[in-house]
Parts: sequence; C-alpha cells; structure tokens
Amino acid sequence: MTKQNSLQTTLIHAPRQAPQYIETIQPPLFRASTIIFKTTAHLFDRHWTDPYDYSYGTHGTPTTFTLGDNIARIEGGNYCLLAPSGLSAINLVNSTFLSSGDEVWVADNIYGPNLEHLKNLQDRYGIHVKIYNPIDANSFQPTEKTKLIWIEAAGSVTLEFPDLKNLVKKAQQANVLTALDNTWGAGLAFNAFDFSDEHLSVDITIHALTKYPSGGGDILMGSVVTRDPQLHHKLYRMHATQGICVSGDDTAQIQRSLAHMPLRYEQQSNSAIAVLDWLKQKAQFCQVLHPSDANSAGHLFWQQVCETGKSAGLVSVIFKPEYDFAAIRKFCDSLNLFKLGFSWGGPVSLVMLYDLKQMRELENTHLQQGLLVRFCIGLEDPNDLIQDIQNALKQLE
Ligand SMILES: *Cc1c(COP(=O)(O)O)cnc(C)c1O
Repeated sequence: MTKQNSLQTTLIHAPRQAPQYIETIQPPLFRASTIIFKTTAHLFDRHWTDPYDYSYGTHGTPTTFTLGDNIARIEGGNYCLLAPSGLSAINLVNSTFLSSGDEVWVADNIYGPNLEHLKNLQDRYGIHVKIYNPIDANSFQPTEKTKLIWIEAAGSVTLEFPDLKNLVKKAQQANVLTALDNTWGAGLAFNAFDFSDEHLSVDITIHALTKYPSGGGDILMGSVVTRDPQLHHKLYRMHATQGICVSGDDTAQIQRSLAHMPLRYEQQSNSAIAVLDWLKQKAQFCQVLHPSDANSAGHLFWQQVCETGKSAGLVSVIFKPEYDFAAIRKFCDSLNLFKLGFSWGGPVSLVMLYDLKQMRELENTHLQQGLLVRFCIGLEDPNDLIQDIQNALKQLE
C-alpha cells in the first residue's frame, strides 16, 4: 500500500485547474510570480522574442497579454507593454532610446512630470532637452544628435492640438523617433498609427491607462504601443530587465472597463462640448480652451487629424486678469460636484488650477495672461455640472 500524502501536502498539490473550462464574459484572471513549466523542454525551448513567452510573472500572464493586445488594437498598433503608471510608461521609452549625448525634443505643453524626468536625465546623463512650440512645426529643429521627439495631442492642460502632420514628417525626414502621449485621444479620437490622407504614423504611443481605460479613478497603469517589431523588442528588453510589471487584479479591472470605454469617451466628449458652449458665454473668462473651438490654438490641426470630431472631456478656461489667485481658489473651493484633484477619465468631474507663468518655457502668444482652471468632465449630467460652475462663479461677484 503506497502511503498517502499528508493533508498538508495534499492541500498544496490539490488540482489547480478545474477539469474543464467554461466560457465567461470576462476572461479568467491569472496572478503569478512563478509560472510552472511542464517539463525542462518547456523551460529551455522558450525564447524571449516569442510574444507569449510565459516564464515569470514580471514578463506577463494571459491576463496582461489580453489587456495589452486589446490596448494595441484600440490604438491601431501591433505590440503593447504594460507599466505600473503612465509616467512609468513614459520613462520606459526614455530609458530605452536615450543615451548620453542624445538630444530629445519635447512640446512646450508636455505632461509636466515627463519634462521633469528628462531634466533629471539631462543633469545626470548628459541628455539634452529642447523645447518646441506644438503649433509651430518650424520651432522643431532636429540635429544629427536628435534621437526622439515627444508629442502630445492635445496637451492636457492648455489643450493645443499640435501640428501632428508636419511634426511627424519632419521627424521622419531627420530619422528621429516619434513618441506620442496618446492619453487624450485614447486611440478613440484618431488613429496615431494611421492618420491623415498620407497615412502617417508615429513610432510609439504611450497611454495613461489610469484615465479612460480604467475609467474608475482608482487604478494606475500605463502602456507603450508600437507597430514595428524591432522597436518593440528594444522596449521589451528594457521592460524585462527593469522589472516593470503590473498586478493581475488591476489588469483584470481595466480589461473589464474596456467594453464601455468608447461609450464613456463619447459621452464625456459630448458633455464637454455642452459645458464649453456655456463657458464661452461667460464674461469672467478671457479664453476658453478646447480643440473643437475655432478660437483655440491648433483647432485646424485637430480638424485635420480627428476626423471623428471627438475630444477628451477636458475644457480649460483662463480667467480675466482681474481675478487673482485668491479669487480662483475661492472659485475652486466653491464647486460642489467638481472635486479638486489630478487626473481625468473617471465618473467624477474634477477641477485643477494652474499658473501658466510657472509652466511654460517659451513665450506663448496664443495664451492670454491669467490663471487657468481645467475642468475634467465626468459622467454626471452636464446640466448639473453647468449649474455647479454657475453657483461657484456667483461667489466671485
Ligand atoms: C495622467 C497622465 C500621465 C501619467 O499617467 P499616470 O498613470 O498618472 O502616471 C501621462 N500623460 C498624460 C497626458 C496624463 O494625463
């Protein structure tokens, strides 16, 4: 009689999988550090260039590959790597492609922490950071040393839509990699890998999945999408060796939200237009910024590229100079439905205040003097949001 394993051992080695799979609406969730190889042949025959090379949790599971493939699909690319935040995805691109002595160009309206990170690299590694004006492609002057250009469409605070066509063309002519922060368009407003009648394409997109794909205001994640396998493999190597990885639970939550992301995007796009139309009639603002508005910088570029007519749910206003910082603070503190906080793309509308003078390096003739307030439109009824802004403006009278 063979001796039975003890209960302790049996519990550990009890079947890990049900005898038969069922199909469910959401894919099964894998959590893994260790991935069990069936045999030594499976261990030794795998190759890191195989996109589904399951070997260790940091390199991915079916859960992360499912989300990554879907993000690539949404954005029009072929490959996707996931990172623990949007900023981490940005840093993956910078650390993969920038070496000592290289030059990198960033738009003047770039996501602030990206510029901060690059300036840190500039000081420590001798990487030169140059700033261009996103609505003036002539201000981008690549040299032999230029390796990478960061583009944001639209910039997430001042909302200028860049001259994407000419920036990408110029970069391609100079053999410069184009990286687009695609968080605003989310792959839904336009296809970054195939835009304009000339079928132009950026090389790399990053996306703060924290925003629209999560949709809940509760999960942080980022992605890096490419079409070219060689670019992907360079990124993949850096991703794997830096130990950049995401939690299976977070990944499954974002996967679950993808089904309604286009509906949410469209709703927030429409609600933002309703709020924009109302804001434009108010006397307190010297400028209302939104790419769909003919008076906003980059409007024609938005029309060229965003044939869908869609926009993220962001609207910014510049208060007339007679409203000082105390007044703007009072306005923000008086809002009730709009909560004071960073980020966007979730159900709750958010507000943030900025002093442009401290944010820009170039002189911007298209932005007027004053303090800026950005509204991130959530999923509330836009009429209630307008009422909330109206009530807060009354506090300034
Ligand atoms: C939020 C955001 C990021 C960074 O994403 P996190 O997940 O918050 O790190 C990057 N770019 C843009 C445009 C963003 O709005």
